Amino acid sequence: MQYIAPLAKLIEHFRSLPGIGAKTATRLAYHILDMDVEKAKALANAIIEAKEKIGFCNTCFDLSDTNPCKICTSENRDRSIICVVEQPRDVGAMERMRDFKGLYHVLHGTLSPLEGIGPDDIRIKELLNRLYSSDVKEIIMATNPNVEGEATAMYVAKLLKPIGIKVTRIAHGLPVGGDLEYADEVTLSKALENRREI
Ligand SMILES: [Zn+2]
Repeated sequence: MQYIAPLAKLIEHFRSLPGIGAKTATRLAYHILDMDVEKAKALANAIIEAKEKIGFCNTCFDLSDTNPCKICTSENRDRSIICVVEQPRDVGAMERMRDFKGLYHVLHGTLSPLEGIGPDDIRIKELLNRLYSSDVKEIIMATNPNVEGEATAMYVAKLLKPIGIKVTRIAHGLPVGGDLEYADEVTLSKALENRREI
């Protein structure tokens, strides 16, 4: 089916988003056309504003509209413990649980030799740098429970042992192969509580 060019373009953009197929993309595009101009502009502006105002915290590498971020500067967080996660959305999952009061470090990926992702491709060096200049006593590896997540946790543990920092791994209450992001709060809370030293 041929769409008017601007409509086809809009559909194409929606289709490029994760989890959106041709049908949904078309429905969303028609929905936008039905909107008031003001509402459509507000939506477009929200996208631009989010892109322009949100960057990475240079300490923990979580997404933030301030640098350092609010968690890194908070006086209510325990600075002796850092929870290491793969992606910013994992920080969101941990924060929803409300049990964790330490700091975070976002690796932005995991080690994956098959895909050619090595230690220099994720934020491991930055994690080490943080440790030299702080009183961190424990690192909780909360990477996902899959092959890459486990390998990354072991790699970091080996690096940190000689520095005398305790490295723990969240427990396997999480489904193997599952994502931290999708774990419910109770499961995640249990996994954190039952973490073991590695
Ligand atoms: Zn931060």
